[in-house]
Amino acid sequence: MSSGEGGTESEYVESIEFVNPVPPELEIYCSICLDVLNEPHLTQCCGHHFCLSCLNAVKRKPCPLCKDQHLKAVLNKGLKRTINGLKVYCMHKSRGCPWTGELKDLSGHMQADKREGECPYVLLKCINDCGEMIQRLSLQNHEDVTCPKRPSSNPLEIARRVQALEAENESLKATVTQLKRANMTNEQIIAQLKLDLKSCTVDIAILKQQMLAMAQDDLPRLVTLNNQFTTPVEESFPTGGKRLVPYDFVFDNYARRCSNPELWFCSPFYTHPNGYKMCVRIAPQGLGNGEGTHVSVHSYLMKGEHDDMLMWPFRGAITIQLLNQLKDECHHEQMTDFNDRTPEQYCRRVTQVDRAGQGWGKSLFIAKSELHHDPIRQVQYLKDDCLKFRVVSVALRN
Ligand SMILES: [Zn+2]
Ligand SMILES: [Zn+2]
Ligand SMILES: [Zn+2]
Ligand SMILES: [Zn+2]
Repeated sequence: MSSGEGGTESEYVESIEFVNPVPPELEIYCSICLDVLNEPHLTQCCGHHFCLSCLNAVKRKPCPLCKDQHLKAVLNKGLKRTINGLKVYCMHKSRGCPWTGELKDLSGHMQADKREGECPYVLLKCINDCGEMIQRLSLQNHEDVTCPKRPSSNPLEIARRVQALEAENESLKATVTQLKRANMTNEQIIAQLKLDLKSCTVDIAILKQQMLAMAQDDLPRLVTLNNQFTTPVEESFPTGGKRLVPYDFVFDNYARRCSNPELWFCSPFYTHPNGYKMCVRIAPQGLGNGEGTHVSVHSYLMKGEHDDMLMWPFRGAITIQLLNQLKDECHHEQMTDFNDRTPEQYCRRVTQVDRAGQGWGKSLFIAKSELHHDPIRQVQYLKDDCLKFRVVSVALRN
């Protein structure tokens, strides 16, 4: 192998060559890396030598030679001394280095990776980052004269480089200008948005003023309206302020009242002009044998205006419908009869309190499962969380 000035070599194989033959009984090679032992350690299990670094690499594993589970080794200082004292050639002998010395001095002679050192044949990196590996003796010449990336002192070359740099500088300037322009456009957009926002705020303020003015103008009308709504509703009924059968009422908040049962009654109504006063209780959670499965509907007698002129106990049949909310057909209807077999407490005249303590009706008025949308029959009783009822008729029998 030869290499002249400026020559390059990308790689070379390191190997140690001894000046004198090594006695065959001397163990100088590691059983793991097969190289000359470095910090030789003697195993307790099988009496072989490993380098310290090789030993660390197989730590907590069985011995690579005898497979003993408990690999232990100690530094063999005697062997280390012997190996270090062996006479060797420089590893660049083939390139022409005449150096010989003890193994322990070899690395001092070579100073691998350092610019300064004794051995002129060590390969080093060019300082100009051209990527080439140059022998120490030619490194300076390569970097100053032959390296393609060397700094130049030729005026023409310098002028050419300045030109190139100036061109690069110009293009960078252009990029900066472009970026500045883009940034300016963004700023303009933001400014416009700010203006828009301001005018929106003004609009809102104007609207507020207008609303306030309107509210003030309309105040008398609103007060009148409010009074109308707060006037007792019964007064607005044409028949002397009484609700009469047929009478419709809405049971709302079905879901909430199911999970939170409460005593719920519709507003009172009269069965006829000068008739009986009644109300209806809806129990969406189900009462008695309908508990949990049915909606229960019970009718209650109340203390009424005309009770003195009426027959007691109450005898009659009250018909109540749960309305189909999809069309005016297929309403669910149940009739409750107050007759001679009806327990007396449901039929008697109410005197002490406003409403009878007990109601008479249907615990199984309708199964909860029937409330939902039936697309075939076009029936839906529960809609928008509401049930709608109608007291259709009360047929008196006396
Ligand atoms: Zn080794
Ligand atoms: Zn072993
Ligand atoms: Zn050398
Ligand atoms: Zn170079």
